[in-house]
Amino acid sequence: MSTRLKSIKDRRIIDCHQHVNFHGYDASRLVEHLDNLGVERAWLHTWESIDGSLEPDYQHLSIEKVWDAHEKYPDRFIPFYAVDPRREDAEKRLGKWVDKGVKGYGEHKVRIRIDNPDSVRMYKLCGELGLPVLFHIDVSLPDNPRFWYNMDIDGLENVLKECRKTVFIAHGPGWWRYISKDAEKSKEVYPRDKIVGEGKIVELLEKYSNLYADISAGSGLNALTRDEELGIKFVERLYKKLLYGTDYHDSRHLEYLLKENRFADKVLDAVLWKNAELLIKHQVE
Ligand SMILES: [Zn+2]
Repeated sequence: MSTRLKSIKDRRIIDCHQHVNFHGYDASRLVEHLDNLGVERAWLHTWESIDGSLEPDYQHLSIEKVWDAHEKYPDRFIPFYAVDPRREDAEKRLGKWVDKGVKGYGEHKVRIRIDNPDSVRMYKLCGELGLPVLFHIDVSLPDNPRFWYNMDIDGLENVLKECRKTVFIAHGPGWWRYISKDAEKSKEVYPRDKIVGEGKIVELLEKYSNLYADISAGSGLNALTRDEELGIKFVERLYKKLLYGTDYHDSRHLEYLLKENRFADKVLDAVLWKNAELLIKHQVE
């Protein structure tokens, strides 16, 4: 850990995008990792899909594992559960786990359109239950057809219009590439070229009060760093809608935010913990 990171121990930090039993991190190793970075707590997400389309590594991101980790470390892990909306008893399953203490719906990552009627039904239920929905949108390019999940950004806008009472947190390359207006032209999943104009995600984040985004994974970090100056402007403009999350077990996202005192305290506080806490606050109290 860098000296800079060591000096932030007085800052509150919530990682809104983590998984347990993922890349060799069981609950205790994950707590150790959070301790090293000075992260107070993490939202733990499942990944459930009934169509057998998950990569073998991800089969075990079950609600039972998330719940076990939460029970072992109740002050460190906040449990989320995105039941596959195609399950016949999806509502009942979600209700059962919400009664136990699940605080959000995530990570929603299934091989159907994001505005599929089954999914919309779940989003509406989440709106009624006060659960934020954290979703992944991917990119469908010829070289990565297996990553076809929750397409696409136009479908997202349909959902935002239809589910006004539900809070959504966007994540994934099919979201972040739209930081640039020329996203459709790019042949890369993670475009590295300069940002052109104001992308669709700026428009959506400003237009819909129920839409947020996490900066996690390679997709979030790439979008913010591909054009250093515009990335900083993006964060400064939209910090009230952005959440710190990693999906990873390193310090790159934190280093980005804390580098060279580039962001004001009010920006850092919002992104590092306040926005996350606000979205589930009424449930925690
Ligand atoms: Zn994830």
